[in-house]
Amino acid sequence: MACGQKVANLAVARIIPLFLGGLIIYGCWAFTKPLCIDYLLDTPHEENARQPRRGLAAGLLVVLYVLLVFLLAAYLRLIVTIVWNPGYIPRGPEWRQVRENNLSDETKQHSGKHRRKSRSRQRDGTCGRDVEVGLGSHTEKSAYRQDAVGLEAYYLKDVFVCREDGKPTWCSTCCQFKSDRAHHCREVDRCVRKMDHFCPWVGGVVSETSFKFFIQFIFYTTLFTGFNIIVMAVFVAELSKERGSVNVHWILVLALSAFFGLFAFAMLLSSLHITWHNSSTIENLDRHTKVWMLAILIPRLEDLPRPASFPIVSFPPLSTTQSSIPRRHFAILHTKPGESPFDLGSPLANLKEVLGYSIVDWLLPLKHSPCTDHSHQEGAFRVGPVVERLRREAGLVPSRSSGGSNAQSHHRRKRTHGHQNDEGNQGNPNQHLARRSSERHHREHRDHRQPTSR
Ligand SMILES: [Zn+2]
Repeated sequence: MACGQKVANLAVARIIPLFLGGLIIYGCWAFTKPLCIDYLLDTPHEENARQPRRGLAAGLLVVLYVLLVFLLAAYLRLIVTIVWNPGYIPRGPEWRQVRENNLSDETKQHSGKHRRKSRSRQRDGTCGRDVEVGLGSHTEKSAYRQDAVGLEAYYLKDVFVCREDGKPTWCSTCCQFKSDRAHHCREVDRCVRKMDHFCPWVGGVVSETSFKFFIQFIFYTTLFTGFNIIVMAVFVAELSKERGSVNVHWILVLALSAFFGLFAFAMLLSSLHITWHNSSTIENLDRHTKVWMLAILIPRLEDLPRPASFPIVSFPPLSTTQSSIPRRHFAILHTKPGESPFDLGSPLANLKEVLGYSIVDWLLPLKHSPCTDHSHQEGAFRVGPVVERLRREAGLVPSRSSGGSNAQSHHRRKRTHGHQNDEGNQGNPNQHLARRSSERHHREHRDHRQPTSR
């Protein structure tokens, strides 16, 4: 995406909230003055005319402004969060140097013979480079060093999302590792943790820090516009029937409420649907086919069968200076297509990860989502039954665990050790992966162990 377009998107994203604020002010004025004061509290001079309906006017105004308070609270909380706590992942220390080099290269290209080709690459928004690459990727071998800052944040957890080589993904634009579930947003040119979408209506990137407030905002928008639609429709019909006239402001509020109300309601259903699965709008694009690659901690390497039924990766890399950290070994396992390691197994548990643990959290835009807490030992995000199943199938459940799991694990180890290829193994995608690479990774495992024992 060209820089000019990015700037334009950001400018629009900052202006639209002001525009929406103007519409809300107009709607409230049209409801209060032309409807409640000028119509419901009016005392007509004609005989048999309605008497002023003070109670009805007061009731309608109370409901309107209570809904407005909730709507504005959610909207302000959302915008403040998006502006000051957007969930960006810090750029790496080499980012500034790499950026200056890229700009210098682009300047040379623009002034040379390859101007047209360069423009074509810029339109792709990547300047011809892979934005998301793995450690040691063939396309970005020099993207970062083995001791790159931040790698330990991954291997000190028990589970992290990885690439086929078992190492976390690297963003060559931010010069930083991409946290689990992070996505590089081209509008803001930053990696964003659990990015949902770039939303000009709320002024920026909706991510893990703001998704709860976004849901609350569209929920209260749906209630507010729904209330306006019902009230305006009733009084437009009444005025037309009794006096044969229409009020332009009421019609405008009705039309605007219908437009924004339908839009908000559709967004609300969509957002609740993806929260139901503990997913995000971006993850939802390929939710039914996506295969997640995970590095899962091996509790005791010496308990593993030989050869291991899955590839193994060890951290910290032997070539680094981080040798003071005990080495941790991870099985590289992958889910079946359509499975999510972050699906906690029940819709309610998934909803709580975003909306909070109490009804007050669900309704009031105060606390952040529980999923923004990344201090768990298990992983940056809580993982669900899929990871437990992968552990059991791979025999990674510690021997001190329950008898059932232990027996199952032991039975599976025996089968794997003997290379028996029964029906269960055929159905397990990790066994298929292992058949392709077990020999190579067993050799790698042996190589890793040798220097440690010296
Ligand atoms: Zn990035």
